[in-house]
Amino acid sequence: MISVRDGQNRILAQVTQRTPPELVPLADARDRVLWEAARAPFDVPPTDNSAVDGYAVSSADIPATDTRELSVVADLPAGSVFDGVVQPGQAIRIMTGAPMPPGPDTVYPQESVERVGDRIRVPPIARGANVRRRGEDVASGTIVIEAGAVLRPQELGLLASLGQRHLLVSQPPRVALLSTGDEVAEPGATRKPGQIYDANRFTLRGLSEQCGGVVTDLGIVPDQRDLLRTRLLEAAEVADLVITSGGVSVGAYDLVKEVLGEIGGIDFWQVAMQPGRPLAVGRIGRAHFFGLPGNPVASMLTFLLFVRPAIFTLAGRRRVLPETWPARAAEPMRKKAGRREFKRGILRFDRGGWEVRTTGPQGSGILSSMVAGNCLIVLEEERGDVAAGETVLVEPFGWTD
Ligand code: AMP
Ligand code: MG
Repeated sequence: MISVRDGQNRILAQVTQRTPPELVPLADARDRVLWEAARAPFDVPPTDNSAVDGYAVSSADIPATDTRELSVVADLPAGSVFDGVVQPGQAIRIMTGAPMPPGPDTVYPQESVERVGDRIRVPPIARGANVRRRGEDVASGTIVIEAGAVLRPQELGLLASLGQRHLLVSQPPRVALLSTGDEVAEPGATRKPGQIYDANRFTLRGLSEQCGGVVTDLGIVPDQRDLLRTRLLEAAEVADLVITSGGVSVGAYDLVKEVLGEIGGIDFWQVAMQPGRPLAVGRIGRAHFFGLPGNPVASMLTFLLFVRPAIFTLAGRRRVLPETWPARAAEPMRKKAGRREFKRGILRFDRGGWEVRTTGPQGSGILSSMVAGNCLIVLEEERGDVAAGETVLVEPFGWTD
């Protein structure tokens, strides 16, 4: 038996190569992984500019007490620059975002002045008020986004504001999926007695895509050695990562590990966790191989724990393991010491704090527990039964960066 953490470390030690980079238009780059750190080629904003619609004045013209009258000598809309000289006693009408003219260093909001014709009457104001400084958002040369960051809308906006049109990002890891088992039938097909519809190829496809992978679906392979062998070799040709579900336990028809032993390298792990104990990890040619358990909750969970970090590492992502958060247990939970248990939980804010309860029956085949839940409850190895009110760790579903 190995621990979850040991298993993750072994996998991360094996994934040493990341996918190559490619150049994509900014508009297509959402959720992709930035290949190299982005630096600002200039200050943002590029000049001092007005934060309000109003009047730009020199601080020498600000009255210490009472008011002063100034003459308005120009009108400066956003996007235009003033190239004249502002004399003592003069003010420039300025719009939000317009560059400050040389000289003035303070802006009166228009509602703070009285205007009659071309003259305004101004009260005291703090020197430098309502001016956004050059470089206050981003200083030229600084790293604005780290390599390995996932590009959210805000990262794309920031890169656009720096004038970028195309971005260098990691190519998405290629994932090939197949389900194994004579009992597994294609959804929509007629189900023979004793058969169940394939759930795992669809949960695993969704998870792979959520992680930024592109999926090749290689369908269902019956428990036949030659077919399995051919299909696995085919999968390794088109993918960086091959994932199967089913056929890794010790049942008589569990061929995955046998076939993998012939065509690649394989490690067969018993991970001290619940659900999802049996797991096969190895290589077929240059592709990484993961043989996940057949039970639908166990295969999702082992994906999240072991495959997701591998896909993230392949894509060059900075953070590959999720954070957990503390929450109050709303009910007692059974827990066996010596293994890490993952219960499906419903997390909500109640009575002044985050509270979590389980979704009900927690069997590793009960996929509806994943549907009812919005988080995993992570109970560490050393822990025993949990009493209501104790603090537990939760990992909300949907973490992607
Ligand atoms: P196995 O790991 O092959 O021993 O399968 C364990 C359990 O998971 C069995 O009850 C299988 O019927 C079920 N199972 C295997 N593959 C799938 C699949 N693709 N979708 C849903 N359930 C599956
Ligand atoms: Mg099977």
